[in-house]
Amino acid sequence: MSVSTAALDQSICAPLPVLGADVTVPLVTGGDVTYAALDYAASAPALQRVWDDVAAYAPYYGSVHRGAGYLSQLSTDLFESSRTTVADFLGCRPEDQVVFTRSTTDSLNLLASALPADCQVFVFETEHHASLLPWRDARVTYLDAPRTPAEAVATLERALAGRDPHGPALVCVTGASNVTGELWPVKELTSAAHAHGARIVLDAAQLAPHHPVDIADLDVDWVAFSGHKLYAPFGSGVLAGRADWLRDAEPYLAGGGASRKVARRADGGVDVEWHTTPARHEAGSPNVIGVYSIAAACRALTEAGFDRLVAREQQLVTRVREGLAGVPEVRVLSLFGDDAPRVGVISFVVEGWNSSHFAAALSAEYGIGVRDGLFCAHPLVRTLLGSEPQEPGECGAPEAEPGERSLNAIRVSFGAGT
Ligand code: PLP
Repeated sequence: MSVSTAALDQSICAPLPVLGADVTVPLVTGGDVTYAALDYAASAPALQRVWDDVAAYAPYYGSVHRGAGYLSQLSTDLFESSRTTVADFLGCRPEDQVVFTRSTTDSLNLLASALPADCQVFVFETEHHASLLPWRDARVTYLDAPRTPAEAVATLERALAGRDPHGPALVCVTGASNVTGELWPVKELTSAAHAHGARIVLDAAQLAPHHPVDIADLDVDWVAFSGHKLYAPFGSGVLAGRADWLRDAEPYLAGGGASRKVARRADGGVDVEWHTTPARHEAGSPNVIGVYSIAAACRALTEAGFDRLVAREQQLVTRVREGLAGVPEVRVLSLFGDDAPRVGVISFVVEGWNSSHFAAALSAEYGIGVRDGLFCAHPLVRTLLGSEPQEPGECGAPEAEPGERSLNAIRVSFGAGT
């Protein structure tokens, strides 16, 4: 089955049989294809409202920051006001800064590049690889998967207890799992981190599209998220929070925009005076459209109201979980148990089925697009499956013969944001 680009032009809401006639999800139709893309956790379809805002911006398209022309100045104004919109969306404290990046992965790698000397890092093995891997040059402690939120806090407290509270330390934790959809006890983990003199960065890639994220209320030190999961187009992300470590660090990328003054030295070399943050870490011509569209998505979600979005999404979560519970062969993957609060991200295996084949059949026979694999969280999926994936692809699916025990899982993910 192939979906033509003509089909992709028409996005409508229609009943999806597997969820029940009264539940609608966004579908793409065209030709002989009706296709439900339930892969929001990977990339959520950009909102029409966001495309409209970007189109409205088009007449002001111009280079930002260094142009004397009228369009450049307008464009710069829209770019910089996007920073304010994102700061408001995240409930930033007055001293916080918003740095624009390419993605959550980029944001966390930026922070990793700015760690002070001898910084210890604490991270649960359950994290997405974007949160698990950037710290490898630091002194990292990988924490075992907890089976309850309380155990997560106790595990972190134990790990932090032995450390020198005067040395720098960072905890990196996800707000909502990209595998189970389960919410992590961010406030409690933050209190534990701060009580032991550690800072904390929240990977909000999966949380921000589904729940309000308030930096000041959560008291976290940084938040990272991606535009393409927040109903904006691909290519932009955010690292927001404290300025000090970023201000003291070497620029993430060296180049124009990050440099304030560059001069040849008498000995033939070059001296550079770098800007302070955020410009320090935004070298090169920025992704203006990406940044503007993140701000547009923030505005759209705020205006829609998270209360309404959360309520709608929770109806869908309940419906899908009830539907899956009615199929004896299905095992839904969960770390914290059935009652744990969660967002619209649900992974499962089907007894007797290879997950890749099952996902392919859902697409080919029912027009339902899901994801199969290990979801860039190999240690977590391994724990949940109780099996050892063999030779997994980049983030993907080890092959198994039909009928063999699944070495990977199936994930459906959705949101109420369309
Ligand atoms: N963190 C979590 C929890 C994610 O689910 C993802 C992507 O799936 C990422 C980080 C990385 O996001 P990106 O690929 O936009 O950098």
